[in-house]
Amino acid sequence: MQQFDLIIVGGGLVGAGLAIALQDTQLKIALVDARKPSNEDPRLFALNESSCQFLKNLHLWQALENDAAPIEKVHVSWEKHFGAVRLKNEDVGLASLGHVIPAKQIELVLNERLANLPNVTLFRPATLINLTHAENVATLQIKQDEQTFYLQTPLVIGVDGTESTVRKEAQIEVERVEYAQCALVTRTLLQRSHYHVAYERFTKDGVIAMLPLKTAENPDNECATIWTANKEKINHLLQLSEVDFIAALQNEFGYRLGRLVGITKRHVFPLQKVKVTSSLPACILLLGNAAHTMSPVAAQGFNLAIYEVAALVDCLQDNKFDLADFRRKISQQETSSMNLSHYLSTLFDKPIPHFVLSAGMVALDVMTPFKKHFINQFIGRAGSVPRLLLSMDA
Ligand SMILES: Cc1cc2nc3c(=O)[nH]c(=O)nc-3n(C[C@H](O)[C@H](O)[C@H](O)COP(=O)(O)OP(=O)(O)OC[C@H]3O[C@@H](n4cnc5c(N)ncnc54)[C@H](O)[C@@H]3O)c2cc1C
Repeated sequence: MQQFDLIIVGGGLVGAGLAIALQDTQLKIALVDARKPSNEDPRLFALNESSCQFLKNLHLWQALENDAAPIEKVHVSWEKHFGAVRLKNEDVGLASLGHVIPAKQIELVLNERLANLPNVTLFRPATLINLTHAENVATLQIKQDEQTFYLQTPLVIGVDGTESTVRKEAQIEVERVEYAQCALVTRTLLQRSHYHVAYERFTKDGVIAMLPLKTAENPDNECATIWTANKEKINHLLQLSEVDFIAALQNEFGYRLGRLVGITKRHVFPLQKVKVTSSLPACILLLGNAAHTMSPVAAQGFNLAIYEVAALVDCLQDNKFDLADFRRKISQQETSSMNLSHYLSTLFDKPIPHFVLSAGMVALDVMTPFKKHFINQFIGRAGSVPRLLLSMDA
């Protein structure tokens, strides 16, 4: 039986980020992950400024900034409605509202660091098979290379994704909603610069997000396209030739980014919501997709997880780890992110009268204090802000 102060099950983006964030503690940590690091994730993540600050504070930013496109403005509009909501970095006095970074690049940089942490023992690829727990101790049975290991800890953190084994083994209940919508992800080449504006365009049956990208070949004329719509429509879009797909995208998105001239391979992701509903045993905590899987329509999942990791590090570093207190601290952020993502994913089931939408957009656009509050809420800067999300320069 091997003893650890903390066992992290799941070494995806959130589990790896958590282990790295705890590198300066004295904790003896085990990280168990079922798969080898990969370089294949096609997703392109919009990270808010707090999440970028987290990566800067962990000294990971230098390895990411060449692939990180700043978002200076956000433009939200609705097909066939007048008015738009415009959010600017100046509204909150920041250099940018966030950055768009390929998920595979974040994974690569996290895994490089993870392999060199003296306080972390990696079990990888290794799978959690069984978990038993008493009030203050959990015992894990894991399988690696046909060998079985037993690990024990006072705290196990399940960061093992939407179908979390930790959650199932501890019989923690969830609410699950399978949305009728899917997300299609591709990269779109533009004829001109994106000028670092992120667009969110609501159509009659979905949302098209066009987010600025930065690559060595295309420093400012490529966008991440995330197009959500019902499954039939996404299937149809997948079947279209490249030329016809670009024409369909141009038709629904319009010409705010000029002419669209090319795309890369299209990938489809089913969308669902999974949220923990029962209370957790004292020695178990869930984070990331294991605790809350949400639709990516508002780009909240990974950002929320980073907020939670930063709040957890505050609790552990202050040596006053109290699960109930930690859950209280993160619950408002979790509720806001999940509600926004769920609302935007089900919007198309309940049509809103035209005048309400247009009036709402115009009103929101001119209400600077409200916009400021809205932005601060969604970049984790409302209320008490975890230390790892704050600039250390001040
Ligand atoms: C299309 C799309 C776009 C998105 N865009 C954004 C965005 O722009 N911004 C944003 O903030 N969020 C975004 N998200 C959400 C984001 O992807 C998730 O929040 C994030 O990936 C969650 O990571 P995780 O580490 O919790 O889970 P996962 O990435 O699922 O990792 C789980 C890990 O657990 C391991 N594991 C599973 N079972 C076991 C076991 N039994 N034993 C050991 N290990 C196990 C797996 O091998 C895996 O490595 C998007 C999601 C989608 C689908």
